[in-house]
Amino acid sequence: MSYIKEKVSYLRGLADGLPIESEAAEKLYTALIETLDAMADAIDENEEAIDELGECVDEIYEDLDDLEDYLFGDEEDEENDDDESDDDDFVEIECPNCNEVVYFDQEMLESENDLICPNCNQPVMPAATPEEK
Ligand SMILES: [Zn+2]
Repeated sequence: MSYIKEKVSYLRGLADGLPIESEAAEKLYTALIETLDAMADAIDENEEAIDELGECVDEIYEDLDDLEDYLFGDEEDEENDDDESDDDDFVEIECPNCNEVVYFDQEMLESENDLICPNCNQPVMPAATPEEK
C-alpha cells in the first residue's frame, strides 16, 4: 500500500471512531474519504505510469547513444586521423568556356599555374586570383 493510501486508511479509521452526530455529517465524512481514496488511486496509477515512461525514456536514450556511436563514432575517429582529405578543400567553379561545373582542390588553386578546365582544356581562372574581386 502506498503512503497516500495508508493516510486515507488512517482517516477512515478516525472517522469510524467518531460518535455519530448526525446522518448528514456521517454522509459527508464517508463521501470525503471515498473521494480521497479515489484520488489516492489516481495518484498511484499516475506514479506507475510515470515510472514506466521514465524507463522508456532511459531505453530510448540508450538506443540513441548506440545509434550515435554507430553513425558518428567511426567518422569522428577518421577526422582525427587525417584532416587532409577533407572534402571542404575542394572548390566548385563553373567554367566560363563550357559552363561545366568543375572541382579544384585548394592545392591547385594556390599553385602558380593557371587552372585548366578538365572538360574543354581552356583556362578557367588565372593563377592566384582572389575569388572576391
Ligand atoms: Zn570548360
